[in-house]
Amino acid sequence: MTASPNAANQVNVALAASKTKTAVPKAGGFDVAEIAHIRSLFPTLSRSVRGGAQLAYLDSAATAQRVSPAMAAARSFSLSHNAAVHRGTHALAEEATTMFEGARQSLAGFFGVQANELVFTTGTTGAINLLTWVLAKSGRIKPGDRLVVTEAEHHSNLVPWQQLALATGAELAWLPVGQDGRLDLDGIDAIIKPGTKVVAFSHASNVTGALTDVATIVGAARAQGTLTVLDAAQTAPHMPVDFARLEVDFAAVSSHKMYGPTGVGALYGRHDLLADLPPGPTGGSMVEIVTMRETTFMPPPARFEPGTPPFTQAIGWAAACDWLTSLDLERVAAHEHALTEYLLEGIGAVPGVRVLGPAKAESRLGVVSLAIDGVHPHDAGQYIDGAGVAVRVGHHCAQPVHRALGESASTRASVGVYNTEAEIDRFLTALSQVRPYFGAV
Ligand code: PMP
Repeated sequence: MTASPNAANQVNVALAASKTKTAVPKAGGFDVAEIAHIRSLFPTLSRSVRGGAQLAYLDSAATAQRVSPAMAAARSFSLSHNAAVHRGTHALAEEATTMFEGARQSLAGFFGVQANELVFTTGTTGAINLLTWVLAKSGRIKPGDRLVVTEAEHHSNLVPWQQLALATGAELAWLPVGQDGRLDLDGIDAIIKPGTKVVAFSHASNVTGALTDVATIVGAARAQGTLTVLDAAQTAPHMPVDFARLEVDFAAVSSHKMYGPTGVGALYGRHDLLADLPPGPTGGSMVEIVTMRETTFMPPPARFEPGTPPFTQAIGWAAACDWLTSLDLERVAAHEHALTEYLLEGIGAVPGVRVLGPAKAESRLGVVSLAIDGVHPHDAGQYIDGAGVAVRVGHHCAQPVHRALGESASTRASVGVYNTEAEIDRFLTALSQVRPYFGAV
């Protein structure tokens, strides 16, 4: 990093401009005392970094901070009830199984589905890979069939479908991203056309933050008898997400983006569809009768969960979701919407900065990726980090959407339930200093 001699002055000018143009923040879903209480449940947020700056964590789209009740539930399970689930008959084994299946039940309720429709996986990536694997094995996808994704996908919801197309001889097509960063659904009927077996799409982009018009895609898919697969990794922590109400056939989520532990997530599948699919990976726990020549398999969800499942993490994840429910996800969404509005208004006042995707807070999440004229995202990220503000830089595992918007990488700030306007101000201050600091004026 090379400093411009006039950086300090230019910074102050930019900052003053940003302050005067920033509207008074709108009331969010939580008052000051409530936010203070929420923050107290995240010990990481009280840390300092980089020689004393208080951490401002604006990287929740990559992974959220862990909420204390989730980690307390996982810890208490580990230290007082731990045993292998679905195997033993001793007291601890029974307790562990009851707690694990209780977690599945409560997570199913959280997502508006039945417990036997929720398969534990390692996360969203694991869920989509499992689904593409079992679809390949099922023989449902034939040469010449069509698989549809979108140009906005995280690589997790793109590469496995490319692999499925390669393995089966199906063709891969996609819904494009328009210059506004939203999916362009004008030509949807020409893309989800007869012969389309699957359409896989994210509920919100992890780059542009744009929310997807799920009803339009599901409607077009239904008209062709096409299966729908929703990647809800980004939305699940930030708004009510009910898979049954969204009428999707499959969905994928990750605990670690929802203030829960790493190592667990889920594949939701409509029960009749799951029941009709073969297992993917195989091993213990998922079987009924095993002879030296062949095996019969349990019904879902066990059929898709070979080996020792991540029960400790699942229990922690369920506790994180119970906590989100106790906050009321509508209020969570309102709080984050107000923060996003504040953030976008502030960014709009910083010269030489372009938002990749919708620049207004409507119908989007608080995931805001920026192109900064004349400054590489890694330099910008390092500068902003120097002020104690954690943002993500790079392509965020979504190269095609960057390409569609004329960039190869970006600097991304993303909000979570615990963020405050004061933290956004700190980000805006650092952001307004970036171009002057690097002499990009
Ligand atoms: N899809 C989207 C939209 C994401 O944002 C992410 C995580 N960045 C993933 C999928 C992958 O999630 P995980 O790494 O937890 O499997």
